[in-house]
Amino acid sequence: MGPLGPGARLGILGGGQLGRMIALAAARLGVKCHVFAPEGEAPACDVAAAATRAPYTDEDALARFAEQVDAVTIEFENVPVETAAFLEPRTRFAPSADALAVAQDRVAEKSFVNGLSLQTALFAPVSTTADLDGALKRLGLPAILKTRRLGYDGKGQARIKSAESGHAAFAAIGEAPAILEAFVPFVAEASVIVCRGWDGAHVAYDVARNLHAGGILRESVVPSGLSRTTEEAARAAAFRIADALGFVGTLTVELFITAEGDVLVNEIAPRVHNSGHWTIDAAETSQFENHVRAVLGWPLGSTRRTGDVVMRNLLGAEAAEWRALAAREGARLHLYGKEEMATGRKMGHVTEVRPRQM
Ligand code: AMP
Repeated sequence: MGPLGPGARLGILGGGQLGRMIALAAARLGVKCHVFAPEGEAPACDVAAAATRAPYTDEDALARFAEQVDAVTIEFENVPVETAAFLEPRTRFAPSADALAVAQDRVAEKSFVNGLSLQTALFAPVSTTADLDGALKRLGLPAILKTRRLGYDGKGQARIKSAESGHAAFAAIGEAPAILEAFVPFVAEASVIVCRGWDGAHVAYDVARNLHAGGILRESVVPSGLSRTTEEAARAAAFRIADALGFVGTLTVELFITAEGDVLVNEIAPRVHNSGHWTIDAAETSQFENHVRAVLGWPLGSTRRTGDVVMRNLLGAEAAEWRALAAREGARLHLYGKEEMATGRKMGHVTEVRPRQM
């Protein structure tokens, strides 16, 4: 696939902050973005050259969009696979509809990962109460029940401590198709971000250690403090997944690390990721710029880290601290321009960069 040079128009499906950061990186390379999103408030539209507001199922709008751009990517992983499949023959599209399909279904995702000889939590698909009883018996307690689809930031999942709480959790999700996972007694959560081009060339960023609260990412710390062997295993897992998916663009693998140093794959995010926001301020090429480069067929940029970083999300009212954060030495403030503030909503982030120690 030949490169699309500066002046190219890049379409982005999804209008959130990830799209905003992709568009900002693209603009620096002379690439104009056109955001396609159904939602009213779309932080990406503030910084894009063009925008279409339409549902992902509107084929007329999608066909027009495909004619107006040279390539299309996603910033939202739950874009319907049908939308991706509709656009794929009409424009350069990455990542592929097939890759999205794997990442959108937790059972397909974990089966795919296990098929590559990589570990995940033990799991079982749950469609009925009988499935749930069988799965609870097989996997034991505690366990976690999650919807197969459309869960994010801890939504649509519950920790199960008894058969009764399992039944209640299944009822609470309306007995939607689900997955039961054995609880992983991890000592750390981490993520590794890789970027892969059309030619199969790939690069990886330093592994981040992630702290969650209530299922939402609070903080990412790099370097991770994990052993070199663990970090190498994490990177190798992500490369194996990206290669097997024939992935083009930036891909994130979320991991559990056990006391024995085992690396288990929790989730594949087929996109740029919150735990990689630090790369804007402390990597030679950010995850967003490398994503744009990959999709357009440019050489991938250096992922070398230029400092030690802590990235903290500003959730809900925390963004009101902006004045103090703006005054803090070494703090890089990012605000997403969201007008509607809600508890737990990602309003911005702040990255603190210190000189590199290791
Ligand atoms: P997820 O939506 O799958 O990324 O899960 C959100 C968070 O819930 C993770 O970051 C973990 O902190 C926790 N979690 C999810 N699955 C498991 C599991 N199988 N064992 C232990 N903790 C889990």
